[in-house]
Amino acid sequence: MSDTSNFIFDMIREDIGPGGRFDGMSVHTRFPPEPNGYLHIGHAKALEIDFGAAEAFGGLCNLRMDDTNPTKEDEEYVEAIKDDIRWLGHDWGDRFFYASDYFEQMYGYAVELIGKGLAYVCELTPEEVRRNRGDLKVPATSPFRDRPAEESLALFERMRNGEFEDGKMTLRARIDLASGNFNMRDPVIYRINRINHHNTGNRWCIYPMYDFAHPLEDAIEGITHSLCSLEFEAHRPLYDWVIENCSVPAKPRQIEFARLGITHTVLSKRKLRNLIEKGLVDGWDDPRMPTLCGLRRRGYTPAAIRSFHERNGVSKVNSVVDYAFLEHCLREDLNTTARRVMAVLRPVRLVLTNYPEGKTENFEIENNPENPADGVREVPFSREIFIERDDFMAVPEKKFYRLYPGNEVRLKSAYVVRCTGFEADETGDVRTVYAEYDPDSRGGNTADGRKVKSTIHWVDAARSADATVRLYDRLFDVEEPDLADCDYLDHLRADSLEVINGSRVEESLLLASAGDRFQFLRLGYFCMDVKDSSAGHPVFNRSVSLRDSYKPG
Ligand code: ATP
Ligand code: MG
Repeated sequence: MSDTSNFIFDMIREDIGPGGRFDGMSVHTRFPPEPNGYLHIGHAKALEIDFGAAEAFGGLCNLRMDDTNPTKEDEEYVEAIKDDIRWLGHDWGDRFFYASDYFEQMYGYAVELIGKGLAYVCELTPEEVRRNRGDLKVPATSPFRDRPAEESLALFERMRNGEFEDGKMTLRARIDLASGNFNMRDPVIYRINRINHHNTGNRWCIYPMYDFAHPLEDAIEGITHSLCSLEFEAHRPLYDWVIENCSVPAKPRQIEFARLGITHTVLSKRKLRNLIEKGLVDGWDDPRMPTLCGLRRRGYTPAAIRSFHERNGVSKVNSVVDYAFLEHCLREDLNTTARRVMAVLRPVRLVLTNYPEGKTENFEIENNPENPADGVREVPFSREIFIERDDFMAVPEKKFYRLYPGNEVRLKSAYVVRCTGFEADETGDVRTVYAEYDPDSRGGNTADGRKVKSTIHWVDAARSADATVRLYDRLFDVEEPDLADCDYLDHLRADSLEVINGSRVEESLLLASAGDRFQFLRLGYFCMDVKDSSAGHPVFNRSVSLRDSYKPG
């Protein structure tokens, strides 16, 4: 994040400045994903802020798996998370940690709190705790609040030793049963839960709650700024209370920022997992998914994603950004970097009846007019080529200036041709189009200066390759399927994927590598699929169309 003027950076600058809370210290942040799913574009915002702050102030950023909750966590996710962060261009050096590695220390801090009279073992069931939490006028209650520290210490140890069944008792911080902030009404900080943990196995049957664990993790790692999303704002007093009352080695500061939402998609791991489990998409890396692996497979670049987050900025107000803006950022990047090539998605054969049989020639075509350094390539041409079915009409509509009997078009960088006829099958389906080429128009300009309105793309019939092309569109038909009162599953579009088999692409694309990105002239930006492409048969995913529907302001 090169923009150093957001409110978080201002606070950090003040903190490390003269007389500030971290005067003379270097900035140390962390990105703490829970390894229970793949990272999505919302996580990318958080990690751009976390790693970005460290980079901007010459500090460090840790990568920490926030794995204190043993349900649904998986080693598969840990590797995927690392891959995604590396792909975005961030580096945590040797500072990769598991929060679960601190369980013993956390237990020690809990014992410390009990000893100070600041925590107690409570035997209310979760249901009873809920029932006794009071309301704005009525304080919460627990009959176990004034239990002697020795008793709580002994019980807490027995909880750890597995002497009590799940849910039988909890450890609660002793803070303020009347607090207007319900997070401070003696929150549960440990519970009994016999679940195998991906890192610690069955060593523990008690697990710390997030609000107790997170500040300790930050303090143990010497984090200065714990940057997180807005929903943790009301938890900050508890964060500070834990830091204040446990003898931790550092006093990190929590600062919250707004969560990112994007139209026409959902950004919740639970909802995304649901789409996969119901078979509605092809996995976490389905190119329609807002996950980083899905976006990558779709053809998104790290630069486009970074630019998207930079330009959205960082604020305290949750917002939903138009999906079109994400696409705009991708287009802008690919416009300067993607090589232009020709591909015909739905081919129809065009025979140039006056072009010598057996003859071939090559046309030199620029790879990227936006970047001359990309050079040129030779594109073969002969008597039979393929053009887009849509570029021909037997009976032209009004304002159709492309190929129809009697009309002339320019074949991109090749010749001007005039349509002389066509052949259709019994259903009226056009099989072959016939034309004559103008030998004096080599390169595309007529010798007599006569005007040719349209230019269409083409590939040589013999020297082109068969390909599958997948056109992706928005997953949902409403702007905010993520809203609480919206059943997102009712709004999945049936046509978010169209698979076209039998497309023809320039033969040069047989030399492309999976993951390469191209602009197919007149059609959009496409990325060669990393999973389904095989030697001799590439599969291309449409990353984004050419037309920019994003209007700033
Ligand atoms: P989800 O709701 O998708 O499961 P989460 O917040 O539970 O997300 P974590 O793995 O805990 O997922 O998130 C890691 C970090 O990413 C947290 O600091 C969280 O605040 C941040 N984060 C998650 N989603 C967003 C978002 N949409 N915008 C900004 N930050 C986000
Ligand atoms: Mg979370």
